[in-house]
Amino acid sequence: ACLLHVEDPAPLAEMRQTAAAVKLKVYDNRIVTFAPLYLSNLCVNDCLYCGFRCSNTEESRHILSHDEVVREVEVLAGQIGHKRLIVVYGEHPQSGIDYIASTLRTIMDVKVKIRRGWEGTPNATHRGGGTGQIRRCNVNAAPMSIAELRVLNDAGIGTFQVFQETYHRPTYETLHPRHTIKGSYLWRLYCMHRAMEAGIDDVGLGVLFGLYDGKFEVMGLLYHALELEKRFGIGPHTISFPRLEPAHNTPFTQNPQYRVDDETFKRLVTVIRLAVPYTGMILTARENAQLRREILPLGCTQTDASTRIGIGGYADLLDEAQHGERQQFLLGDTRSLDDVVRELAEAGSITSFCTAGYRCGRTGQKIMGLLRSGQEGQFCKLNAVITFREWLDDFASPATIAAGEKVIAKEIAQIKARMPEVFEAFMSYYEKTRTGERDLYF
Ligand code: SAM
Ligand code: SF4
Repeated sequence: ACLLHVEDPAPLAEMRQTAAAVKLKVYDNRIVTFAPLYLSNLCVNDCLYCGFRCSNTEESRHILSHDEVVREVEVLAGQIGHKRLIVVYGEHPQSGIDYIASTLRTIMDVKVKIRRGWEGTPNATHRGGGTGQIRRCNVNAAPMSIAELRVLNDAGIGTFQVFQETYHRPTYETLHPRHTIKGSYLWRLYCMHRAMEAGIDDVGLGVLFGLYDGKFEVMGLLYHALELEKRFGIGPHTISFPRLEPAHNTPFTQNPQYRVDDETFKRLVTVIRLAVPYTGMILTARENAQLRREILPLGCTQTDASTRIGIGGYADLLDEAQHGERQQFLLGDTRSLDDVVRELAEAGSITSFCTAGYRCGRTGQKIMGLLRSGQEGQFCKLNAVITFREWLDDFASPATIAAGEKVIAKEIAQIKARMPEVFEAFMSYYEKTRTGERDLYF
């Protein structure tokens, strides 16, 4: 709470350096990447700040059919190279638990031949020829009952994400009309308790900065994290901190009273990192490219790229424009994954496409224990290099391959020096990947 008030440049600089050091110690130089996939903008709620709210008569509504979901995933997995998604749903009877569970299965079942030379896209240099597939599906959807969450768990969900939006109850009640489902503050607040009871042990918390005082929201988030840790022995897997963005025909987003400016935002993110060293922190393409460059090093572990949030937006790849009336809000950064990966590599970071932890049962308490002891870092380092090699060979442009290979050379040297006992096994996986084997991991 005290650090949230620091404004003097010297202690602030020290806090930022410490946040960066904590991130490096726990997560090394890795950044995990993912793409959001919006499946439906039908919504019965009326959140004042959201373009999908039911009273927004200018929103053009659509819910993706099975075939349309497949087409989106074919682009994401076969053309861009994503392995990890956050799938997003409005709250509506048509996109209830049955739709969510069946679309998750559809997504995980798509195996698509990696296409080379996609005309008119930045990825016209593909060299691969294998199969693309989504390997981890996180979900951002409305709070559910324990019975519904069990169905979600059985469908193979990764992280279950629900943002509280604001922890300040009077503000929450003003922004979410009482007669709507989302009007219940407590139903939302306790949804992660229900998720844990249903067996989902990777949960993602978040607030939407700009609805109320940011300092209050950070304290709310941290107390929520502490409560989960106290009650279930395990804190949140991730924390997200979206800032309110302009949305089509949504006057509330124009001049919000509690708008969080860039400098304050950086301080809030820094304090979150210092307070929860073992929680993943997600920075999204809501923020523009320059700000992302400044905020990622403050301790973020995940970011999206090649992002499209219009319903059906990925299958429309040649249409570069954002479509306000089909989107929830407007994005600040629409750069391609190839561009973002290259920039990260030039700054010395490795983009990890690893999804092994989850598939090997390294979730929940197990992953927290491994992170605390430093052991998860070892698996992650090996898997980051192998999956990065795979992505470079299948999807990257020549410039990105060149930047990426410099990072890989340094990583291999570090693995040799720090983990001699696994070096031989690692190199055997690395060489197999080079010659075309896929999806190898420790
Ligand atoms: N309908 C579900 C819900 O509200 O929890 C899940 C999907 S909702 C589309 C995902 C998140 O988008 C919300 O939790 C909210 O934080 C965020 N959001 C809504 N309007 C936004 C805006 N104008 N700018 C930035 N983020 C926004
Ligand atoms: Fe619906 Fe979620 Fe948007 Fe609220 S934030 S209107 S619940 S999609």
